[in-house]
Amino acid sequence: PCTDFDKAYFQSYSHVGIHEEMIKDRVRTETYRTAILQHRSHIEGKVVVDVGCGTGILSIFCAQAGAKRVYAVDASEIALQASEVVKANKLSDRVIVLHGRVEDVQIDEEVDVIISEWMGYMLLYESMLGSVIIARDRWLRPGGLILPSNAVLYMAPVTHPNRYAESVDFWRNVYGIDMSPILPLAKQCAFEEPSVETISGENVLTWPHVVKHVDCYTITVKELESVTASFKFQSMMRAPFHGFAFWFDVEFSGPTNAGAPSSVDESTKTNPSVGHRRKRANPDEALVLSTAPEDPPTHWQQTMVYFYDPIDIEQDQVINGSVTLTQSKENARFMNIHLEYSSGGRSFVKESVLR
Ligand code: SAH
Repeated sequence: PCTDFDKAYFQSYSHVGIHEEMIKDRVRTETYRTAILQHRSHIEGKVVVDVGCGTGILSIFCAQAGAKRVYAVDASEIALQASEVVKANKLSDRVIVLHGRVEDVQIDEEVDVIISEWMGYMLLYESMLGSVIIARDRWLRPGGLILPSNAVLYMAPVTHPNRYAESVDFWRNVYGIDMSPILPLAKQCAFEEPSVETISGENVLTWPHVVKHVDCYTITVKELESVTASFKFQSMMRAPFHGFAFWFDVEFSGPTNAGAPSSVDESTKTNPSVGHRRKRANPDEALVLSTAPEDPPTHWQQTMVYFYDPIDIEQDQVINGSVTLTQSKENARFMNIHLEYSSGGRSFVKESVLR
């Protein structure tokens, strides 16, 4: 059923600004275009579904790559614009715009390819991946192609003295006035909830930890309701530890590589030559769209969960704990982030909601 939350969600995609921001993100859009061209042999003469087509840009890329038919599906009013864009580009015979939810629209044939730009902040925010799964299970023929093929959500501890100084230390001396009584409120307002911002590789204290591997061929809706990961970091430097950063990358592999290692079954593990064949043809050239702090910035930036107070960390000091991401009960598109972490003999818990 389409809830009021869904209505608000689709309404938010009826504004041109959000599409402009995504399309102007060249890292995003050009990686998708390159992926489509790279997999041209699987798209030429084939049937494609674009889950959440927006302005129609990815559908048109697929048509340009020779797709026989592209179903461009979007529940937002932006679908009406997509339809006009398709007409203006004389592609109406091959790109069929369906204005509705992928859960509700009808497509009367099997499809060879599913393409979708479903990733939200912290990968899973917005919960749009569930709709890609539904499209896959409704229409994708066995052996079909899904772009992107897999995704990885990462986390890492971060130091960010400037950010802390701007939001907190600022109140210690305001035009010579001691405003430190405001500190607790300032900390709460700045750090209670996660924030989406761009940090740099230099803010990151150590190698990231994988929170979740997503194999788009096999992932289930159930698996996404709650994601838990334990972590153990060892800081590579002495620094004040301000919070955790989350980011993701997605990979555009061919259909024979069903993504993450989980797809390699026992028989292929014991037979290296079979295992090898199951891998993508060109492991070195698997195209990756990265939103890591050390890579060129994207509109996803990084998602930060800051603490109210920094923890002083020595070089090699261990930080361990766990993180649980769950869909919020108030709105399944929101995400609850439950963090438990210990370091230097002190333990902490932080609950926050990405809205
Ligand atoms: N493919 C476009 C837009 C991506 S944004 C591009 O790459 O620029 C995601 C789009 O998916 C939004 O327009 C949103 O309205 C649509 N969407 C999300 N969930 C959907 C669903 N269940 N059914 C149909 N459209 C959906």
